[in-house]
Amino acid sequence: MLFDTHVHLNVSHFDEDREEVLQRAKEAGVENMVIVGFDHETIPKAIEMAEQHDHIYAAVGWHPVDAIDMTGKELAWLEELSSHPKVVALGEMGLDYHWDKSPKDVQQEVFRKQIQLAKKVNLPIIIHNREATEDIIQVLQEEKAEEVGGIMHCYNDSVDYVDACLKMNFYISLGGPVTFKNATLPKEVAKYVPADRLLIETDCPFLAPHPNRGKRNEPAYVKLVAEKIAELREVSYEEISKQTTENAKRFFGLING
Ligand SMILES: [Zn+2]
Ligand SMILES: [Zn+2]
Repeated sequence: MLFDTHVHLNVSHFDEDREEVLQRAKEAGVENMVIVGFDHETIPKAIEMAEQHDHIYAAVGWHPVDAIDMTGKELAWLEELSSHPKVVALGEMGLDYHWDKSPKDVQQEVFRKQIQLAKKVNLPIIIHNREATEDIIQVLQEEKAEEVGGIMHCYNDSVDYVDACLKMNFYISLGGPVTFKNATLPKEVAKYVPADRLLIETDCPFLAPHPNRGKRNEPAYVKLVAEKIAELREVSYEEISKQTTENAKRFFGLING
């Protein structure tokens, strides 16, 4: 049993073979997944897929790269969708300083508004972070995001920031990069995070794990992520899959406790 906490089966990369991809996920033991919508096209598609499949859930948010396109209209739309029974989190939201489509101050404003919305509707949040860890932590602290908690998705920075995230009731999610031969940071993080705060994801179609690096990623490959983490933590694959699945269900409110 595996729980892929971050997938984008709602993008055009999967238009040709979406059902086959879902079938392969099932065969690999992926029991549940959360499809993350992040703009006008991908949000309705995430909801649609969650409505069609019992085992699929949706998260909706506005991506920081496109922060400049988010107006009050989009924020009201997110609020409306937050009460949908299959919407289990708001996001992805956050800061992305790699791309400069949206200025930093606009990104921060849009990020803050979405955290405030999450607190209003009482949903946890999914954080996208690229080259912005310190600012992300500062905004999360200032906005008191610990009240709803969240996921640092595809966490790819130093282990030094992990404690600050844990303290705010955040979970750490690792994806394909933990399997990359030259990636040292996610491997250290995989060993450091407490077992009950660890999640796994693909972020497909991006960041395919070794040995599929560079190809289109898909949920079935989350198994490769779980296997690598098990190896790094020196525990069994079964233990990691069980623990990360339980964590995901608890985080998204799909089980009690
Ligand atoms: Zn992301
Ligand atoms: Zn994503």
